[in-house]
Amino acid sequence: MTTFKPAFQQCILCGNCTSTDIALCTECALELPCPECACKRCGVELGPTPPVHGYCGRCLTEPPSFDHCIAAFRYEFPVRELIAGFKFHAGFAEGRTLARLLAERAGREFETLGKPQRLLPVPLHVSRLRERGFNQSIELARVIGQHCGIAVDTSYCRRSRATPSQKGLSAEERAVNLRNAFTLHGECAGGKLLHVAIVDDVVTTMTTVDTLARMLRSAGIACIDVLCLARVS
Ligand SMILES: [Zn+2]
Ligand SMILES: [Zn+2]
Repeated sequence: MTTFKPAFQQCILCGNCTSTDIALCTECALELPCPECACKRCGVELGPTPPVHGYCGRCLTEPPSFDHCIAAFRYEFPVRELIAGFKFHAGFAEGRTLARLLAERAGREFETLGKPQRLLPVPLHVSRLRERGFNQSIELARVIGQHCGIAVDTSYCRRSRATPSQKGLSAEERAVNLRNAFTLHGECAGGKLLHVAIVDDVVTTMTTVDTLARMLRSAGIACIDVLCLARVS
C-alpha cells in the first residue's frame, strides 16, 4: 500500500471530506459494528447473557491452539462490504482504514496482553497471489506493524501447497483441506520467538489460524495471538 496521504481524504462510507488521518469520518467510524462481550480466548461473541468466566463453551472443553483472538469488527454491513472491496477489488483505502482501526484496538489489548515480537500474516499460495495480485493479510499486517511498532515477518510461515477455497466447506472438510498446507522456514524456527500474532482478514471457523497456531506452538512459541478485522460468530 502506498504511504502517500493527501491533506484531506474522502470518507470511504459517506464520501464526505474527513480531516481525520484515516479515510473515514468520525460519524461513520462510530457506526461500524463492533463485537460485544467476546470470548476471552477465541473472540466469538457470547450473546446477551455472557457467562461470568468470559469463555465460550467450546474454549472450555476444546480450546484452540492460540491464546487470544482480537477482532475489530462484527462481520456485518458495512464492514463485510468494505472487506470484500479490499480483497476482491484491490480497495486499498478500505483495507488501510480497517487495518488502522484494528491496530488501535490491538494496541489497547497489548497493554494487558503484552506486545507480540512479530506479526505473521496468513500466507497465500503463489497461485492465489498471482490471481489476486496481493496478499490481504500482509497489507493489513504492514499497517498494524507500523502503528504498533512490531516487525512483520512474511517469510517464516509459507503456504506449501495450493488448497481449494475454504468457502462453503464444513469445519472437518476445512481441516482436511489445510492438512500440510503450511510450512515454517528460517530463523524463527530456532525458538527465539516467544510471542507472535497471526494476522488474517476474516476468521470464520478458526481452522486456518488454528492450524498455523498449532505449528507455531510445536516450534516453541509460547504465546500466540490472532488479529483479524472480523470474527464470524
Ligand atoms: Zn463518513
Ligand atoms: Zn471461545
